[in-house]
Amino acid sequence: MGHLVWLASNPQTGPRLADHWEKSVVDDVFSSALRKQTGVSLKYMLDFGSRPIERQLILSAQFLHNELPVRLAHRVAELENSPYGLSAKPHVLKVRDWYVESFKELRAFSRIRNASDEEEFTNLLRHIYFRHRNVVPVLAMGVAELKRELQHEVGLNDLPDIHQMLDSFYLSRIGIRMLIGQHVALHEPQKENHIGLIDTRCSPGVVCADAIADARMICMREKGSAPEVSIYGDPGFAFPYVPSHLHHMVFELVKNSLRAVYDRWEDAAQEPPPIRVVVAEGEEDICIKVSDEGGGIARSGQPKIWTYLYTTARSPLEDIRDRSAGSTESAEGPSVLAGYGYGLPISRLYARYFGGDLQMISMENYGTDAYLHLNRLGNVQEPLP
Ligand code: ADP
Ligand code: MG
Repeated sequence: MGHLVWLASNPQTGPRLADHWEKSVVDDVFSSALRKQTGVSLKYMLDFGSRPIERQLILSAQFLHNELPVRLAHRVAELENSPYGLSAKPHVLKVRDWYVESFKELRAFSRIRNASDEEEFTNLLRHIYFRHRNVVPVLAMGVAELKRELQHEVGLNDLPDIHQMLDSFYLSRIGIRMLIGQHVALHEPQKENHIGLIDTRCSPGVVCADAIADARMICMREKGSAPEVSIYGDPGFAFPYVPSHLHHMVFELVKNSLRAVYDRWEDAAQEPPPIRVVVAEGEEDICIKVSDEGGGIARSGQPKIWTYLYTTARSPLEDIRDRSAGSTESAEGPSVLAGYGYGLPISRLYARYFGGDLQMISMENYGTDAYLHLNRLGNVQEPLP
């Protein structure tokens, strides 16, 4: 909270906002950034039921109409205050302006009184959701640019405050997208057992199988072949979760394992040992282990894998530089096997958003085990940094 006060009282250091936006908007952003964000419990989302009545949708829209500008303003403040001059990078300014634009549109929307207001508001939400689809890759370009400069000019490699800022920024983004996505999904024809984005009978076995198939396809495309992956666990088991989040995490972990195993066994005479995905259902937690014999990570490299600047793959960011603005690429960037260095840190945020976690345990020169712990959705409150 401290830095926001600082921002509000030093508008010239929240430097560039006032250069690009009219004063009334800047003032409104500043005062909204000082308001507290309100967390939502997952239970609250589940309580809506699969066929929400009109009154519930209006209440949900009214809540979002009030809450989203506050959350967006907090993100603007974070970007404006990002350290080492990151805030002035053109890509960062572009992302910031998407947030200001959405903020403005939400504030300009008049009070939601009836079903037709609510319908119109939902259209605005769809529009905003779409506008922000490329935030991760575009922001990544700003960070990559900064990384190059700092390495060359000051030999700075490790930027803890940047990682902290990005962790908090991306975690909040997951929350914002969950709230919007949930509201919008309640308007769409509901799939069986779904409450908005939440599948009350989400099967980790089915989601893992999908994610594995997708990851192996990318590996085949890039490398020409893909190591085998086997799944262990009760295929009939299901629990309430957001399948798209689970898919995202398992997809990233399996991509990492495929790459490590492929590279390590590329020149070997025998077939590479299969990657093992194990699903364990506990009382508290569902745990998914992705286990490979891809040579592991040295202990000194362990902390780096959670940073947003670290990858041992060539960066594909250059390729999307020109396409990012208007492309219809998937929400989290184009699909490549590796290269952003974002797979692990973002997956850990997805796990943490619902009270879970992600850990990597490695044996150097042997292999890596990733442990994905997922909370059975209960009364956990959204984490709000
Ligand atoms: P990216 O895959 O884009 O490089 P990640 O965040 O997914 O980004 O992973 C960061 C780095 O961690 C990888 O570049 C790789 O060096 C290392 N890593 C991740 N998973 C594994 C694994 N299963 N085996 C060996 N190294 C790994
Ligand atoms: Mg990866």
